[in-house]
Amino acid sequence: MHADKNDDRSSVSATMSGDRLFDRCPLGCRDDLQTSAITLTEGPLLRCTMCGQLLSSCTRGQYELALKKWDTSNGTTPEAQSAARFQQVTERRLRCALRLLGRFATPPLRLLDVGCSSGALLAVAAKSGFSPNGVEIASKAAETAQRAGFEVFCGLLHDARFADETFHVITAFEIIEHLNAPLSLLSECRRILKPGGVLIVNTPNAASWTAGVMRECWDGFSLSAMGGHVSFFSPQSLTNLAEQCGFRVERLETRRVRFVESHQASPVVYRTLKILGEICSVPASLLHRGHDMLAFLRKV
Ligand SMILES: [Zn+2]
Repeated sequence: MHADKNDDRSSVSATMSGDRLFDRCPLGCRDDLQTSAITLTEGPLLRCTMCGQLLSSCTRGQYELALKKWDTSNGTTPEAQSAARFQQVTERRLRCALRLLGRFATPPLRLLDVGCSSGALLAVAAKSGFSPNGVEIASKAAETAQRAGFEVFCGLLHDARFADETFHVITAFEIIEHLNAPLSLLSECRRILKPGGVLIVNTPNAASWTAGVMRECWDGFSLSAMGGHVSFFSPQSLTNLAEQCGFRVERLETRRVRFVESHQASPVVYRTLKILGEICSVPASLLHRGHDMLAFLRKV
């Protein structure tokens, strides 16, 4: 169920102009972008006719403004009530990465968290036996992580100039949907991963049932509410990105279905649709139609 199956097929170049963030598909496709039938505040989502990637039609100015909302001292540190859950989920992901590393998991284990924010994942990685590094462009969040004793480079990954083949595992959680040049980031990750190294990414699934039903009402598509979401992957386009950058998809999973955001319905309607979403979550996971997409990519 692609969110944009009723696309208006008019070419974007004929209808839009100005300082738009995307003029071409950031996954390197040659064909033009077209407008989709999903219209957000910034304008219609754009669709690559070759790979199906959905893209924001925002301007560079709107994008940069949305990114700035990220930069708080608390960053993405989980609330007290969800801290244990965050630790559990992160530990499970790191254990999976270790299993995939296999004989390449030679100590000392080095991990890099790209977009580490205030360092919540770095703390879990350290407890799991990794020697963690972070990279974070948001200076206030990066300072929080540094004050907690973590080695964090404040800036872009490329500017950190890590040596070739430094890390066993790189995590980039909720990053690639914010990027206008994802090929560049993944290529740099591949360069600094050791042979057999594992990159873990997660991102909203634009081919999910959630996106298909909620369309412009889905928070996953929101530029401003989500701190600069501009590029929306499907399992297919994420695989395309990984393979172009020298990775093999070892494992790709999607989970969760939602039919309404909590602020969009009365409590009764919300609870009813939440139960329906939970019923749909098992078949959605089996069919790669959940809205939370997680992929383990191995350097080849
Ligand atoms: Zn494309």
